[in-house]
Amino acid sequence: MDYRKLAELVFPEIDKTPDDYELIYPERSLPEGAKVTRLAPSPTGFIHLGNLFGALVDERAAHQSGGVCVLRIEDTDVKREVEGAIPVLINTLDYFGIRFDEGAMPDGWKGEYGPYWQSERGYIYKACCKKLISEGKAYPCFMSEEEIQQIRAEQEKNKINPGIYGEYARHRDLSYEEVERRLAEGQKPVIRLRSWGDPSRYFKVNDAIRGEISMPENIQDVVILKTIGLPTYHFAHVVDDHFMRISHVVRGEEWMPSLPIHVQLFEAMGWEHPVYCHNTVLMKVDEQTGQKRKLSKRKDPELSLEFYMKLGYFPEAVREYLLTILNSDFEEWRMAHPNADMDEFEFGLSKMSSSGTFFDISKLNDVSKDVLARKSAEEIRDFMLGWAEQHHPDIHELFEREKDKLVKIFDIDRGGEKPRKDLIYAEQIFDFIKYFFDEYFEYESEWPAECEADRKEILRRYLEGYDISDDNDVWFGKVRAIAEELGYAAKPKDYKKNPDAYKGHVGHVSSVIRIAVTGRSSSPDLCTIQKIMGIEQVTRRIERAMDI
Ligand code: GLU
Repeated sequence: MDYRKLAELVFPEIDKTPDDYELIYPERSLPEGAKVTRLAPSPTGFIHLGNLFGALVDERAAHQSGGVCVLRIEDTDVKREVEGAIPVLINTLDYFGIRFDEGAMPDGWKGEYGPYWQSERGYIYKACCKKLISEGKAYPCFMSEEEIQQIRAEQEKNKINPGIYGEYARHRDLSYEEVERRLAEGQKPVIRLRSWGDPSRYFKVNDAIRGEISMPENIQDVVILKTIGLPTYHFAHVVDDHFMRISHVVRGEEWMPSLPIHVQLFEAMGWEHPVYCHNTVLMKVDEQTGQKRKLSKRKDPELSLEFYMKLGYFPEAVREYLLTILNSDFEEWRMAHPNADMDEFEFGLSKMSSSGTFFDISKLNDVSKDVLARKSAEEIRDFMLGWAEQHHPDIHELFEREKDKLVKIFDIDRGGEKPRKDLIYAEQIFDFIKYFFDEYFEYESEWPAECEADRKEILRRYLEGYDISDDNDVWFGKVRAIAEELGYAAKPKDYKKNPDAYKGHVGHVSSVIRIAVTGRSSSPDLCTIQKIMGIEQVTRRIERAMDI
């Protein structure tokens, strides 16, 4: 068979060869050891934590080594594509601090290795297919769907390996004339690899996360180009990662079983394959069953990245948490470098787990508390403004009015040796501070029963003696005096020792004041809170509580 002639027959319109593309997409000139990575999402409209997890690996591996991080859009599966998914994807990753140097951008693409949309690279895949056909390593296959299903049914019945290979690859050796006839009839072939694999032979690959992997060779004549002229994932991955000069392919472990196909395709093209980095899926402990399982789109809202954006998790907090589950020595590093930028941590592919990564939202919240404790009040305020603008216009209006007050609020117990750690994410933060604003104020705690009869009197005396310029000691001295005058113990321990001698203790009295001012029985330092509120608001609150 004259394979060259066959290649010409199948792809008459293709005049470039892979050699031409070698020149168009030359090797990158980067410093020694620089990694070129890519994120290759399909625009299905659902961006999840797993995507971010992988993207962070790509981003860290590339940027830490002085390399390049590319965003390539894998849109060859037209059925799964969702309109408008790409800008959302880019903006979402951008929110979490994943910046791409090259590839898809919100308004098109940037870089010398494009197009970065697979649907626009058809001519490159075809040129590569043409080469493979001309060397007898691939062939046009016209088998119908029914024929393939019949074969599969027969294989299942006889309990043999399913697929199109060996004797089942019925169109492997169609004559030139037969192909010509079918094409003239308007039949559209797929292009299949003519596999030369031997299942008793094993090949080895050094995975950067998993170490050496040994697998049997591929025997399947896999489809590499679909009838519509677009490639399958297998072929697109090989061609694109080669011509985009990707050095490290970070992808999910679900691709491991296809590795034999990919390694064979690289060999067929005469190229070296990139370093594979198969990461693990994200797992959690099911709240109901207590069993470990994969995070699921249906059951776990926290899988979606939108979840974190809506609740207003700080991007750094999510990134920092992901680093803790990506590299187990991150936490140790953080303890030794509490104030360092997390990008200074030496991230390593080989330090990643190969046996399942656990996601735990309460751990994320803990990390977030620490991250926020390191931020300035202004940074928190600005983030809250952005969050409210996006998700809660009513709150945004309030925040705009109260910009300065917000900084004072976030400054309570910030900095110093032991900063407060009660801020986690925007929605929770708003909830935490909303009593400062009259329109959101409500009584959330029960008045202490010990003071029920004296509540109004306590508040009356308190208001009478209240002076906003009092420092903490003077302020508390006045509260204690009211307590004593009304028959409450000045110290809780006195009350505990002799409960019959008192109505209650100073804590109960101050609780009345705290609830009157904040609506809550616990809050940060009340003296400071009142100074931030100002005399008018404090007076209003006390008077309102006296009226109940
Ligand atoms: N488009 C593939 C996916 O979304 C990419 C896999 C890869 O990174 O190679 O799973």
